[in-house]
Amino acid sequence: MKAIQLEQPKAFRVIDVPEPAQPGPGDAVVRVFRVGVCGTDYSGYLGKMPFFSYPRIPGHELGVEVVAVGEGVTNVKPGDKAAVEPYINCQKCYSCARGHSNCCENHQTLGVHCDGGLRPLFTVPARKLHISTKLSYEQLALVETLGIGLHAINRANPRADETVFVIGAGPIGLSVIEFAKLAGARVIVMDLNEQRLKFVREKMGVSETILSKGAFDDDVKAFTDLTGGKLGNVVVDATGSAKCMNVAYNFVGFAGRLVWVGITQDELHFTQPLMHRREMTFLASRNALPHEFIRIIRLIEGGMLDTRPWITHRAPMDELIGVFPTWLKPETGVVKAMVEVG
Ligand SMILES: [Zn+2]
Ligand SMILES: [Zn+2]
Repeated sequence: MKAIQLEQPKAFRVIDVPEPAQPGPGDAVVRVFRVGVCGTDYSGYLGKMPFFSYPRIPGHELGVEVVAVGEGVTNVKPGDKAAVEPYINCQKCYSCARGHSNCCENHQTLGVHCDGGLRPLFTVPARKLHISTKLSYEQLALVETLGIGLHAINRANPRADETVFVIGAGPIGLSVIEFAKLAGARVIVMDLNEQRLKFVREKMGVSETILSKGAFDDDVKAFTDLTGGKLGNVVVDATGSAKCMNVAYNFVGFAGRLVWVGITQDELHFTQPLMHRREMTFLASRNALPHEFIRIIRLIEGGMLDTRPWITHRAPMDELIGVFPTWLKPETGVVKAMVEVG
């Protein structure tokens, strides 16, 4: 069967891979229907993703159908539709033993550290499948993206009377916004790109946005004015830009929390007296937990989470290699692109 492999940065190719064997104990073979494309895939393509190794079959945002299960599998059966939690954890390390399967010491993400879903069939641990009888394959493929946002929000746990400031309105920022809204918090979003802010206002129902001029003092003033000097109870940096991640704590108010959901290769610096005076908490947010996948599926099923604005671009798998470079261009306006595999 045909798979798409990123042989090296900027070089996709179609390869032949064998069909998976009968699944072993605890495993399932799944048929892939939809693969979402995200920032990780774009940086992997550009050779800018530190964890990405080559050659690699990408694809970690997956809507699949179970076709066969191995011995001992009870959570799924052939015919079930599922979202895939693509974080393969060892179940043996100290972090796993304490329930932090999102940051296993031997963590591997499908499609990043090991081969992912841009192929018709593959084998995955059945415990990584979260089923739904109601969601479409596209919605199932969105669950992982949304998981990044839910986990970031759960790290900071905003209350309904608090203000959440989201910096960066790309797909990660949008998924953070979804759950900041569900927490009932006041949500304010900042980005450098007015088109993205327009999307946030018109499609995500967030009325308060700040167009950053890329000048830190102006941005702090705009946010100070908007919040009457209170600043953010929770600030989520969803930019992955070291320049922005370095200054994000200036938007955090007294007893506030800062969450870095993005990742940078650079060192970050901050002025400790300001952090101390306001008694800030700094948090990282990595991947998502199984219960967060399940909650997202229930929220979409129950109509509390509207996935309709999300998917802006689609392509069948056999057109992906040609179309992929166009999705990288800001003028294409991609929020989320979906690859139709099956
Ligand atoms: Zn992703
Ligand atoms: Zn582990």
